[in-house]
Amino acid sequence: MVNNISVEKAATSKIHNVDFDNLSFGNTFTDHMLVCDYENGAWNSPKIVPYGPIALEPSSKIFHYGQSIFEGMKAYKDEADGVWLFRPLENWKRLNKSAKRLAIPELPESHFMDGLTSLLRLEKDWIPKNPGSSLYVRPFMFASGTGFHASPADKYKFIIALAPSGAYFSGKVKVKIEETYSRAANGGVGYAKAGGNYAGQFYPTQLAVEEGYHQVIWTDDNNHEFIEEAGAMNVFVRINDTLITAPTNDRILDGITRKSILDIAQAEGIPAEVRKISVKEVVEAAKNGSLQEMFGAGTAAVVSPIAAFGYKGVDYELPEIQNSYASQLKKRITDIQYNRAEDSFGWRFKVS
Ligand SMILES: *Cc1c(COP(=O)(O)O)cnc(C)c1O
Repeated sequence: MVNNISVEKAATSKIHNVDFDNLSFGNTFTDHMLVCDYENGAWNSPKIVPYGPIALEPSSKIFHYGQSIFEGMKAYKDEADGVWLFRPLENWKRLNKSAKRLAIPELPESHFMDGLTSLLRLEKDWIPKNPGSSLYVRPFMFASGTGFHASPADKYKFIIALAPSGAYFSGKVKVKIEETYSRAANGGVGYAKAGGNYAGQFYPTQLAVEEGYHQVIWTDDNNHEFIEEAGAMNVFVRINDTLITAPTNDRILDGITRKSILDIAQAEGIPAEVRKISVKEVVEAAKNGSLQEMFGAGTAAVVSPIAAFGYKGVDYELPEIQNSYASQLKKRITDIQYNRAEDSFGWRFKVS
C-alpha cells in the first residue's frame, strides 16, 4: 500500500460539457490525473491533481533522447455501475519491462495499482456506459531530468491520464504488407511500449495511406519474409480453421489481448498455433481460398478485422464470413471485460 495519496480537487468539473453519446477515441480528458515523481533515487508517493499542462525545462531529456514509455488499458462499467479493469497487473509488469529496456527506474506495484484505483474511484462518473464505450486509461513515464549529456536522466515522471472513449470503430481495414521499412529490429526496443517506436511507424504508414491503405502489416527486419504486427496491434491469421499468430520476440509487443485470445481459443477448442507466418504462405492461402480471416488484436479495438491486404502491388480480398473467429473472440473478451459473463480465467479486477 502507498500511504497518503494526496488529492487536490479540480475547482470545477468539465463533465457536464461532455457529450457521452458522441465520444471519439482518446480526445476528451477527465478532471484529474495521477502524478508520481522519481527523484533522489526513489519514486515519491503518487498525487492526484487537476488534469492540465505540466511544466518541463527545455533541457529535459525526454525532448532529446526520447526516454518515454506508456501503457494502454481500459476501465469498464457494468449494468450495476460496478467498475472493472482487465488484467491490470499485466500492464504494470509490461510497463516495467519497457522501463528497464529504456533505462528508466521501475515503478513499485503499489504505486501503480493504488494510484490507478484511487484515480478511478475519484473519476468513476466519467466511465461511459454506452455499448462499446469505456474509459481509456493511459499510464506513461518519461525523463523529466535535465541535461544535454546523452545519458539516462536522474528524474522521471509517471502520470496516468483518463479519456472517456466511444467504441473504437475501424471499419473495413485494408492493409499493406511492408517490404521496405521496419517497425523494430533484432536487439532493439520493439517489445517495449516506447514512444519512439510509434514515431518511426508514422512515415511508412503515411506512405501506405497515400497508396490507398489504412495500415501497415509489419514484417521482420531481415528479409521482410514473415508477418509480425498489424499497425500497433498484434496480428492473427486464420487459414482453414486454424488461427495463427507470430511468436513474441524482441521485435514484437507482447499484447495482453493477443495472449487472452490464445487462452480463449484453447478453452473454446479453436485450433491455434503460435508460429512464424510467412508472407508467401498468406499470399498462397489467399490465392487458393484457404485464407479465411486476418485481424489485428489490441486493447483499443479488441479485434480489428482486415478486409484486404496489398503485397507487391497486388490486392487480395478476404472473404466475408459469418460467425468469424474475430467476432466470436471479441464477444468472449468483451463479455468478460464488461462483467456480462463468467470469468473462468480470473482476468477481471474489481475497482469498486
Ligand atoms: C499496445 C500494442 C499491442 C497490443 O497490446 P495490448 O496489450 O493487447 O493492448 C500490440 N502491438 C503493439 C506494437 C502495441 O503497441
